[in-house]
Amino acid sequence: MHPQPDWSAIRADFPILDQEVNGHPLVYFDNAATSQKPRAVIEALRTYYERDNANVHRGLHELSNRATDAFEAARGKVARFLGAASAEEIVFTRGTTEGINLVAQAWGGRFVRAGEVILLTEMEHHSNLVPWQLLAERSGARLRFVPVLEDGTLDLGALDALLTPEVKVFAFTHISNSLGTINPVAELCRRARAVGALSLVDGAQSAGHAPVDVRAMGCDFYAFSGHKMCAPTGSGALYGRAEVLEATPPWHGGGEMIVSVSYERATFKPAPHRFEAGTPNVAGAVGLGAAVDYLEAIGRERIFAHDEALALSALAKIETLPGIRIFGPREQRGGLVGFAAEWAHPHDLTTYANEYGLALRGGHHCNQPLMRKLGVPGTNRASFYFYNTEAEIDRMMAILTAAHGFFTR
Ligand code: PMP
Repeated sequence: MHPQPDWSAIRADFPILDQEVNGHPLVYFDNAATSQKPRAVIEALRTYYERDNANVHRGLHELSNRATDAFEAARGKVARFLGAASAEEIVFTRGTTEGINLVAQAWGGRFVRAGEVILLTEMEHHSNLVPWQLLAERSGARLRFVPVLEDGTLDLGALDALLTPEVKVFAFTHISNSLGTINPVAELCRRARAVGALSLVDGAQSAGHAPVDVRAMGCDFYAFSGHKMCAPTGSGALYGRAEVLEATPPWHGGGEMIVSVSYERATFKPAPHRFEAGTPNVAGAVGLGAAVDYLEAIGRERIFAHDEALALSALAKIETLPGIRIFGPREQRGGLVGFAAEWAHPHDLTTYANEYGLALRGGHHCNQPLMRKLGVPGTNRASFYFYNTEAEIDRMMAILTAAHGFFTR
């Protein structure tokens, strides 16, 4: 296997982790919601604003040229990071949500018609559900869902019946944010292609956590958020396969995306600029590029192995508590554990944990229909990243054990 990096030196790159919360050392286990930022990313933002800041693409002056170069260099880094064929396949967005809305509105608005089918799964985050509901409402298309089985995996046996020629797009998450399930994305993309449907992968939980190669995956679209992978909030990108992106009409109109404009009409730039109306989040893209460099220096195989090991260890330990239900697969999971305690509502347990400096998440995790199906109001979620440690899991266990005593006293 790959040699282990010095994880404790890596942890020291994250200044925010070194603090107390409510008089206790912070244990940050809410990484699936957003990750912390290393100094390299914070410094890249600082340097950009101290030295290079200007508007991009329009200026003919030095700073504008530098800002444009930095912005486009970041696009190239993201393309490499995802294994895209070229930088033209990368549209900067403010995150996964915006990327999926772009596809649903712009591509879906043109290509999805009444009576056709949008295939999703029962484990989708609201951001890979609601944009399609809006499209279905506008177009008269229908939604279908691949069921989730008891063990938190998709019911692939049901695919044949669901993935019929009326399906125009099959959109699914790579890694579930509440179950930790890792979906067989390459197989799902291949099955979509076989019936002439496009595939969209929600990469919010995978981009910074596992090796990603969109061409090996065979997807048409892949959306992710920068803030979950060490980059600033409001940064992210959508990969679109060149041919598909080129056929997609614009969605937002404005500056930057046009070739020429009259009072009556406009002509548009090719992808990706056609999808980037207005002044973009230049600093966010620069920070995203720095995050890509940082993650690549560690290696996503190593990050994946580290986080999976923490998740499996946490799962085994949490399970020893009385009255606990664990959600999602037993093995082969992303770096998070969803669980529910019979003896405490997820919100109450999260509030209790916070008293001791432990940042968990409790609630529906933007998976309301899935929570309903699982028969719980919500779950607690501990989600890990490469700067977390086994010692922090032990600290969590001490807090959860005390919580059990507190709530059942
Ligand atoms: N999809 C999944 C699987 C997620 O976990 C999240 C974030 N919780 C999103 C989509 C939405 O990401 P963002 O809010 O950054 O757009």
